[in-house]
Amino acid sequence: MRQVESGFRTFTACPACAGADIRAYQKGTFSGRLTHDEIKITDSQYGKTWDLSLCTDCGHIFANPCPTPEFLASLYGRVEDPLYEAEAAGRSRNFLRLLRRLEKLIPERGALFDVGAATGILLDLARRRGWEPAGIEPSSWAVRAAADKYGLRLIEGTLERASLSKDRYAAVTMVDFIEHTALPFEAVGKAQAILRPAGILVLVTPDIHSRAARLAGRRWWHLRPAHLAFFSRRSLEALLRRAGFSILAERRYSWTFSVHYLLSRKPAFEVLLNGLGPASFLKRIPLKLALGDSFEVYAIKDSGG
Ligand SMILES: [Zn+2]
Repeated sequence: MRQVESGFRTFTACPACAGADIRAYQKGTFSGRLTHDEIKITDSQYGKTWDLSLCTDCGHIFANPCPTPEFLASLYGRVEDPLYEAEAAGRSRNFLRLLRRLEKLIPERGALFDVGAATGILLDLARRRGWEPAGIEPSSWAVRAAADKYGLRLIEGTLERASLSKDRYAAVTMVDFIEHTALPFEAVGKAQAILRPAGILVLVTPDIHSRAARLAGRRWWHLRPAHLAFFSRRSLEALLRRAGFSILAERRYSWTFSVHYLLSRKPAFEVLLNGLGPASFLKRIPLKLALGDSFEVYAIKDSGG
């Protein structure tokens, strides 16, 4: 990797599998400076990406040049996203399904580390189910929200810089995290290092080869400036194998959102929603989106790794 200009660098090898044959894939549609408002979880910069490259070995598609980890850390540190917390009920339902599946794979509940813990919704739920919660989150706002709302003490910072105990955690969760990092191999490698032997990594990320992605084309909702890595089954497997994991189970992921949330992301409906007021009943109607456009992968730390 070579430094291009302040804040960006160019990959000369695949960030997932380290393959050296990488080619230009798609010219970027995102123009202008990236700000902390454009990378928050509920941003609406759909269809906009950086210049993308393709690895011919594993099929991984990634932003190239890519914002540096330092630049990203400075942006995520300033993210504030109240809309995320407003959807706590829907997100809890998603996380509950995920924890139940994890618990089928791991008999006794130990320490669970959530990467990109946001406001702590998953960790609060895990704690109530007998897990010992820990996690890391770069946004100061989110770390404060997790402390205020759930009494959780998250590490404020980024995974690549954090000094964490090795061989300690029974499980590591990365829900919609890996597509945001400039260094996916380093991130998954760190998860491998902090997991105890036979510990499990739960990883959720969009699938660039999903039917939804193909149908939506360039307007696919996961094509956003905040997303730097677009995985497929093959590239995700290559990444996990290289980092010392074996995939135990894999499934399509569906999200639960309220009707209000979905409508609020369409500017045309904003006037209508404002008229309904903050107590709108729409906020309470959960809607399961069976888009199946993300992967949910459960991978076990290889022995000897
Ligand atoms: Zn590759």
